[in-house]
Amino acid sequence: MTLRFAALGSGSKGNCLVAEAGATRVLLDCGLSPRETERRLAKLGLAPADLAGILVTHEHDDHAGQAYAFAAQHGLPVWLTWGTQAALAENGKPPGAVETRTIHGRGAFAVGDLEVLPYTVPHDAREPVQFVLSDGAFRLGVLTDIGASTAHVEATLSSCDALVLECNHDVDMIWGGEYPKWLKERITGPFGHLSNVQAERLLGALERSKLKHVIAAHLSAQNNRPELAREALARAMGCAPGWIGMSTQEEGFAWRELK
Ligand SMILES: [Zn+2]
Ligand SMILES: [Zn+2]
Repeated sequence: MTLRFAALGSGSKGNCLVAEAGATRVLLDCGLSPRETERRLAKLGLAPADLAGILVTHEHDDHAGQAYAFAAQHGLPVWLTWGTQAALAENGKPPGAVETRTIHGRGAFAVGDLEVLPYTVPHDAREPVQFVLSDGAFRLGVLTDIGASTAHVEATLSSCDALVLECNHDVDMIWGGEYPKWLKERITGPFGHLSNVQAERLLGALERSKLKHVIAAHLSAQNNRPELAREALARAMGCAPGWIGMSTQEEGFAWRELK
């Protein structure tokens, strides 16, 4: 079997990744408008009818904001934790006619040919999770929206074959920048987002020998630059910065393959 993955977009204006094993494809998060999601799927050669459903990490708009709307338009189920469902409902986003499937922060489940492992992360949402996706042979680890690494995260992401990893901000850029103090404290705090340095340390703490793809994601437009994120992850990998992939807000990244 082959595990393929690509991103439709990554960053605070909307996140969406697509993964495929065998005949099964899922979206991971849905923060772009339904129309934009459809347009970017078409660029990857896919239509909404090719999808088995949507996995959602947490209720923040850039991840879950359009999940129910897109699911309702195309008759797709949405997998998300009870806490994420509750937070969405309280924020005025009930599922309506969308079929929700409740997941928990541990224990793998199957979606067709895809094996899905949710895992818990510290982030300022109700019950956030991130995911490892597998075709049974290869493992893709996805990690964005985490304030600080944990032993559980590092154990879960060790020995992955591919990794999409948050590099949200450069510490000097955010503290020297224009954001209000409370927002700087939220983003850099233990339930906020990962800096380049934190991402470098996290990657350095993993078992990395199988990694064939490492992609920097969820970069802040104001508080980071792609070359800084690439250099940080390249230091942890001992590779050239150009080898590190980049998931952008406007384009995401093109198909990558493990086989
Ligand atoms: Zn986010
Ligand atoms: Zn978030």
